[in-house]
Amino acid sequence: MNLVKRLNEITRMHPEKNAYIFQNQPTTYGELGIYINRFAERLNQLGIKKGDHVALLLGNSPQFVISLYGSLKAGATVIPINPMYTQNEIEYILNNGDVKLVIALDKLLPLLEKLNERLPEFTQIIACPTPERELDIGQFPFLKEKTQTFTNMINEGNSKFEGPTLSDDDVAVILYTSGTTGKPKGAMLTHRNIYSNAMDTGLYLQMNHQDKVIATLPMFHVFCLTVALNAPLMTGATVIIVPKFSPSEIFQVVRNYKATVFAGVPTMYSFLLQYEVGKAGDLQSLRLCISGGASMPVALLQDFEKKFNVIISEGYGLSEASPVTCFNPLDRPRKPGSIGTNITNVVNKVVNELGEELPPGEVGELIVRGPNVMKGYYKMPEETSHTLRNGWLYTGDLAKMDEEGYFYIVDRKKDLIIVGGYNVYPREVEEVLYNHPDVVEAAVVGVPDPEFGEAVKAFVVKKNPDLTEGQLVDYCKEKLAKYKIPSLIEFLDELPKNTTGKILRRALKEQLVK
Ligand code: AMP
Repeated sequence: MNLVKRLNEITRMHPEKNAYIFQNQPTTYGELGIYINRFAERLNQLGIKKGDHVALLLGNSPQFVISLYGSLKAGATVIPINPMYTQNEIEYILNNGDVKLVIALDKLLPLLEKLNERLPEFTQIIACPTPERELDIGQFPFLKEKTQTFTNMINEGNSKFEGPTLSDDDVAVILYTSGTTGKPKGAMLTHRNIYSNAMDTGLYLQMNHQDKVIATLPMFHVFCLTVALNAPLMTGATVIIVPKFSPSEIFQVVRNYKATVFAGVPTMYSFLLQYEVGKAGDLQSLRLCISGGASMPVALLQDFEKKFNVIISEGYGLSEASPVTCFNPLDRPRKPGSIGTNITNVVNKVVNELGEELPPGEVGELIVRGPNVMKGYYKMPEETSHTLRNGWLYTGDLAKMDEEGYFYIVDRKKDLIIVGGYNVYPREVEEVLYNHPDVVEAAVVGVPDPEFGEAVKAFVVKKNPDLTEGQLVDYCKEKLAKYKIPSLIEFLDELPKNTTGKILRRALKEQLVK
């Protein structure tokens, strides 16, 4: 089974049901099926064969959904890329990923024209209209031969196109990891990986055809791709496509469509909680909020649940695992601060440096096994053998498990700070800072220290302008061992984040070095 076949089944069962709603316009599963088939047939006519690589440079939109499923149906491997990336970042991925065809917002055509001269592999473009302005393709002579418009891809053609036979081991998607670590690596996810994770996550979170799931996290990121797009479509639910997150938009969408599921990163929950206009009953229709991508501060989770009377289930994942490995269960107690228990068919384990399983309570590296674990990194055998060992995916995250099988991310391996031989996990210090009533956000890093090797430095965004360093230190003294208390505190207006809202500790460190 794969995403395309399953979508066919759903389409046969519920052709009249809405697959997605975008800017108040619903599209049914029946219509989506037709668009996908036409798109796939046109790709085929443009010379895209099974195994060719197609990149998406698109925001959250119907074009993204049709391009993703249409390309898979044509047998292609899809590489979703953040359309906000710089020219260098896009060039790196198109080059490393051997991309033959790019489906892009038309405002990116000038950039693609520049890359065209340098990238021999890439031969075709499908341009999607950017709502803000119309672009005249005639301005770009090279594009005339190479470019199709998205509308031409779906307006006519064979609505019953079958496409090549897909095997479960064929690579469906290559995800270039978000770059919080080193150079981007392309995680190859097979049809089995991506389909099983959508189904297993959907099952675990009790998604069903009555759900209306808000997709506002970026679809080019695996969190949204699996949790808020593939999982709902595989269960016949309706996806509400929201291209840009803002608290007012989310409140409006929940109200207008009686949305039932919202998926976000912790920063989004913080914004929703702080939004003054948001009232307790406003999110009433939501049966579930899903948090992932970064640690959810316990205080934020509890305040949010209390104010809006809706549950948040925190989960965990990474691109290399398609991504979900753990979630807080819905049929057993949820534990704030924990990433939950193994989702269906997936096993998580905490191990020491020798790869031996550690008993509950001890901190080690989290490793994962299951049908969701990637095939490897594209053209990077060394990195692959470092990350995939004896059938296990080494996540590079430090975790512990309790007696009841709930996992807790303690930190990323490399984020560990060692102060005079004592281990300090930034997460632990951040939790304390987040608990301070005058703190909006905090990130903690290690900085060189002549005496202790490293010192703990905290970057803090304050709610109350009168908050001082001394007050924060006094607060920490009550809650943390002496060596864990930040010896340096810097107040910032905001913290650097990647597109999914993850705070970039690395960027803060680099800033310090400069
Ligand atoms: P990405 O591949 O971009 O999805 O990033 C995956 C990384 O995000 C993981 O290796 C973790 O370090 C981090 N991550 C994801 N979910 C959580 C979570 N709930 N708590 C802490 N870290 C998380």
